[in-house]
Amino acid sequence: MADGRRPDETVMENQQCSAAGDGGSPVASAAAAARDKPVCLIVLGMAGSGKTTFVQRLTAHLHNRKTPPYVINLDPAVHEVPFPANIDIRDTVNYKEVMKQYGLGPNGGIVTSLNLFATRFDQVMHFIEKKQQNHRYVLIDTPGQIEVFTWSASGTIITEALASTFPCVVIYVMDTSRSVNPVTFMSNMLYACSILYKTKLPFIVAMNKTDIIDHSFAVEWMQDFEVFQDALNQETSYVSNLTRSMSLVLDEFYTDLRVVGVSAVTGRGLDELFVQVEDAADEYDRDYRPEYERLRRQLADAQSRKQQQQLERLRNDLGAVDIGSSPAAEVSDITGPSDLIMMRGNRDDDEDSEEEEESDTDDIDHSATEESKEGDAFGNFLKERKEVVQVRNRKGAVPEGH
Ligand code: GDP
Ligand code: MG
Repeated sequence: MADGRRPDETVMENQQCSAAGDGGSPVASAAAAARDKPVCLIVLGMAGSGKTTFVQRLTAHLHNRKTPPYVINLDPAVHEVPFPANIDIRDTVNYKEVMKQYGLGPNGGIVTSLNLFATRFDQVMHFIEKKQQNHRYVLIDTPGQIEVFTWSASGTIITEALASTFPCVVIYVMDTSRSVNPVTFMSNMLYACSILYKTKLPFIVAMNKTDIIDHSFAVEWMQDFEVFQDALNQETSYVSNLTRSMSLVLDEFYTDLRVVGVSAVTGRGLDELFVQVEDAADEYDRDYRPEYERLRRQLADAQSRKQQQQLERLRNDLGAVDIGSSPAAEVSDITGPSDLIMMRGNRDDDEDSEEEEESDTDDIDHSATEESKEGDAFGNFLKERKEVVQVRNRKGAVPEGH
């Protein structure tokens, strides 16, 4: 994995994937060609739903259409990225080192890696903006566990950064073959519904793995309440009553929902998917862009400077925790910050390191908003974790009684 790679403090772009791609596209082409900015497709879904395979298939599909996408991998723990990624979080953050240094398990390691990466996301935005003329789509694969992205500060930072500059659409990938039970289906749709409200972006449900089972049963359940009730009647558990009530609530959610059956393995349904993507991108332009433009304008005003400060503080917290100048750091043989965020020659590097040295993590503004507290909490959390690991290491190094 990322071990043994040259340390780099900036996000790296894989140049070989950045070839310009232009040419005729028969799929939803007119609308796509008319856009002056690429549409970002943020791919979310439960672990194992097929997100990575789906991104791989979309990439191949778009290459065939002579419109290669700009592809970003945000999963720090994936063993192998099966598509050519222009930006790979694993080039920037060393997930295994993060786990080791902060004494975290796999999930904590993934969350922390994504937080570290989010502090550098402005650089990713620069890369995409530079290449925006060459790509009609930006594909974003997210970590296996959906909550890492959807319910974390970094997921919000990344989503808002993208959506305040580019049209963005969420594609919720669902494992159709694991949703044949009406109760499981309902749970999946409830989750989709919560993501829709959380992300505040146009939304498409991609019912994946239709090579195993056709998604028509699910579409019927969504369109015809009676059919779903019939399926539920086979269930005898108390959950079926709950599900019955829930399905009434979800009826409203179903009315405007875009649903496409796809197979990431065979490529089935992708033409239909892109028709829906264009429709969703139009919805972004119509209903969401004004809101995000307002958000973007706020970047210039005081509130947004505060957000920048929060991000800066998050950055400083991470830096301050890592800097090996504290006495506690001497007792452990933990490697420096460079093993976590890699450092590649960049003029900004010097400025950044000065900021880190000047930083004072104790200087916390207690009148700050909830979100800024989240940033502080994260910094404190890392500090505490690091102390725990250091104490543990010290015990290991110094025999009892000395
Ligand atoms: P992720 O965790 O959401 O990124 O899921 P992966 O892309 O790693 O896929 C999980 C598993 O589902 C892998 O074994 C894939 O081969 C399989 N898979 C993904 N998409 C499909 C599909 O469309 N059809 C079938 N039959 N299997 C799929
Ligand atoms: Mg994956």
